[in-house]
Amino acid sequence: MPRLDIDLIPVLRDNYIHLLHDRETGATAVVDPALAEPVEALLAQRGWTLTHIFNTHHHDDHTGGNLRLKAATGCRIVGAGADAQRLPGLDIPLEDGDAVVFGGTTLQAIATPGHTLGHLCYWLPEEQTLFSGDTLFSLGCGRLFEGSAAQMWASLSRLAALPGATRLYCAHEYTQSNAAFARTIEPGNTALAERCAEVEALRAQGLPTLPSTLAREVAANPFLRADQPAIRRALGLDQTPAAGVFAELRRRKDVF
Ligand code: ZN
Ligand code: FE
Repeated sequence: MPRLDIDLIPVLRDNYIHLLHDRETGATAVVDPALAEPVEALLAQRGWTLTHIFNTHHHDDHTGGNLRLKAATGCRIVGAGADAQRLPGLDIPLEDGDAVVFGGTTLQAIATPGHTLGHLCYWLPEEQTLFSGDTLFSLGCGRLFEGSAAQMWASLSRLAALPGATRLYCAHEYTQSNAAFARTIEPGNTALAERCAEVEALRAQGLPTLPSTLAREVAANPFLRADQPAIRRALGLDQTPAAGVFAELRRRKDVF
């Protein structure tokens, strides 16, 4: 039985702040607060007090609310120790494999360099939940601002190896545009076609396309499938190692 309630707060153009609440202990967290005000409004409405902020990486659209929320609540800010200089208000620096107790559950840090070098994803094994920030999106992945394609492929491969039932929460609603690109790569993929139809229906109603699951992403997301013969064939890269296939996918998406 999951013990956390998870709410999506849509902010800015296409960001999600995730609000986590442990029903038994009252522990309350946000992942990647781009802004403070919408978080404060929802906390007041629910009567909850913020205890933690988890940052996946240092970009403004993931940390912009850090200092105001900390000043207002005294919450503890958790993020990559490698980015201590650029994560505002960091209290609890983590490395790959470190775990933080939050209420009655634990969040494990998985270092996923690629989008930024310090990027962390947070895996909650007991909740079968992953917060993937700007590393893994539904049907897509983050741009390579700091890391190499080989680093990002290694990072995505680690996420893809987590249990398939894991619910995927990423930091942006990019699924519809990712879907359009994915279909150019694997037009015959039925798992992809099914996900695309679902995404169209959800967006037509103004609803989030998240969470997805890792099993669905492994079946449909081209960026997790760079090691699959169908993708290699589609790109004409039969003899290329998976990291090279991934690099070509990322290049094509950048100009799509
Ligand atoms: Zn980012
Ligand atoms: Fe972002």
